Amino acid sequence: MDKKTAPFDVDKIRADFPMLSAKVNGKPLVYLDNAATTHKPLAVIERVRRFESEQYATVRRGSYALGERATEMFEEARKKTADFLNAGDPRQIIFTSGATQSLNLVAHSFGKSLKAGDEIIISNMEHHANTVPWQILRDELGVVLRVIPVGDDGVLSMEGYAKLLGPKTRLVSVTAASNVLGTVNPVKEIVRMAHSAGAKILVDGAQSVPHVRTDVKDWDCDFLAFSGHKIYAPTGVGVLFGKYEILDSMPPYVTGGDMINTVTLERTTFAKPPQRFEAGTPAASQVIGFGAAIDYVNSVGMDKMAAYEQTLLDYGTRVLGGVKGLRIIGNAPHKAAIISFWLEAAHPHDVVTILDDLGISMRGGHHCAQPVMQRFGVPATTRASFSFYNKTSEIDFLAEGLQKVIEVFG
Ligand code: PMP
Repeated sequence: MDKKTAPFDVDKIRADFPMLSAKVNGKPLVYLDNAATTHKPLAVIERVRRFESEQYATVRRGSYALGERATEMFEEARKKTADFLNAGDPRQIIFTSGATQSLNLVAHSFGKSLKAGDEIIISNMEHHANTVPWQILRDELGVVLRVIPVGDDGVLSMEGYAKLLGPKTRLVSVTAASNVLGTVNPVKEIVRMAHSAGAKILVDGAQSVPHVRTDVKDWDCDFLAFSGHKIYAPTGVGVLFGKYEILDSMPPYVTGGDMINTVTLERTTFAKPPQRFEAGTPAASQVIGFGAAIDYVNSVGMDKMAAYEQTLLDYGTRVLGGVKGLRIIGNAPHKAAIISFWLEAAHPHDVVTILDDLGISMRGGHHCAQPVMQRFGVPATTRASFSFYNKTSEIDFLAEGLQKVIEVFG
């Protein structure tokens, strides 16, 4: 790769991530499962270590110095998150355990305002976390669940979407980027259309926030969900962004300590957002680590990362496209750095087992998105998903690994 296409020194970046020098099965790790989770830079690991070994206390409870300082650090992470998403008011940022909990929060809290006959729109490319909660609401409340079709190229049908929108649509909940197809959806247009039908819109940003700059003001979405562990932060922390007036109109979801104003034996009054939705002792270490991950991403530069990941996607599409009997599933013109494929020679589980022997960590399965598997008529796919710390040489190594799979099974 020449200087023009290499916007930063990837070897220097890799040195920030201790896991990338790990060995697997005695081989250097080639980690291509970034859509599942990402590795952590030293800056995050060190931030969590420092908090836990030098600054640790519970947040929003202790009125002693340590507790107050921990609370400040926790709230600083909220402010960083709001700035990162261009959300404005940090009270619009709720810390959850991950995208799954963020999506469930909307389903079980905002969902309480729905009644039988109201309609919710999702798409055929959603993760189970953005499918199952709505099916449960459908079964409990009698709301109607409508599904936007996906074309053979993996593109969301905007005509199909337009046809589904109507006066009964209350909520549209779609992914910004598919974890299987890689398809990047036209979120701004999806939001505009939802709003013009009078519906609210929830965006699943799990595969998009870590890879492209997100501006919730520009999108004008009502909610956005994503996970910290896919953006170089620890597990156990995620975010739900919600417009404040909508959050303020919603009832609590999980209840207990720290989300109340007053409790008597007769009744409880609830705190304002975000506290209303953050019951229990929060994951302070993880949230503070998440703040450090945002600092790290900002220091590298999201636009640079995104541009580099696109070069990996282009390279990978070209190289893997040349492997005999390999069919890429998801050929949208606008994609995140995810390549799912079906290899004629072997089932994805066998493919990833052989790759694992070579040190390549990659996922084969349904990727928690069975409806999209059904749509493309495959039981599973093998998926390579890239991060800005991957190299084109790793893609070459993957292609060699696939040749070995073909030799063994072909
Ligand atoms: N949505 C999408 C598009 C995802 O890819 C994932 C994780 N694979 C999730 C939601 C759920 O994220 P988590 O498991 O971190 O809650």
